[in-house]
Amino acid sequence: KGLFMNIAIILAGGVGSRMKMGSLPKQFIMINDKPIISHCLVTFNNNENIDGIVIVCSPEYRDFLSDWIGKLNIDKFMNFADPGENRQYSIINALDTLEERNPENVVIHDSARPLVSHELINKCLSTLENNKAVMPVLPAEDTFYYSEHGTHVDSLLKRSTLFRGQAPEAFNYESYLKANRSLTHEELLAINGSSEVAVKCGIDVALIDGDKRNFKITTADDLDLFKTLCDK
Ligand code: C5P
Repeated sequence: KGLFMNIAIILAGGVGSRMKMGSLPKQFIMINDKPIISHCLVTFNNNENIDGIVIVCSPEYRDFLSDWIGKLNIDKFMNFADPGENRQYSIINALDTLEERNPENVVIHDSARPLVSHELINKCLSTLENNKAVMPVLPAEDTFYYSEHGTHVDSLLKRSTLFRGQAPEAFNYESYLKANRSLTHEELLAINGSSEVAVKCGIDVALIDGDKRNFKITTADDLDLFKTLCDK
């Protein structure tokens, strides 16, 4: 311990199947001559509380990404990890590459959330000082209805108790690795958000205020919004 305290894990192993915009995964789409992933890489690299960066990326995009790591001078980059069967398995692959270094904390971010702020990263890490898991959330603004089949309302939900999870989520490395290893293959395949693993294993997850600007580019509409914000 000591040298590598807080490691950022940047997830770029997805294939962007919901974008329907050709074969290029969304995080590599070029906006104003820079790939989307470059935004969060620069922010994490410049953050004084981040000591190293691991990127989950398929071998076919590594040369492309290495070029940008050089051009942007991402000097905290440590290593790549292989994409897994789903987002959670990609995280596990990244955690596995860190086993020898045994960092204190990991901060897990989606490469498709370009507008993460220093403030949010710092808040995650300061909250982690007294917790083993931290997640930024936004309050539910729409009213949510529970429907088993999506055709009729089955039951009502209390809006004030519902929150939208964002990234980056931050975890104590050792506890989070152990939690992941305790779940079965089926359980891990059913995981959507990285904090679900902590909750399932009885680790208390502290909530902090998320940031609307820190949205995830998922659809073509999100991409348009990001382009507009970049042009401003
Ligand atoms: O698919 P979704 O938008 O939830 O993906 C969130 C992030 O997780 C993206 O940055 C994507 O590249 C990453 N991901 C991954 N490995 C997977 C699936 C998604 O790294 N197998």
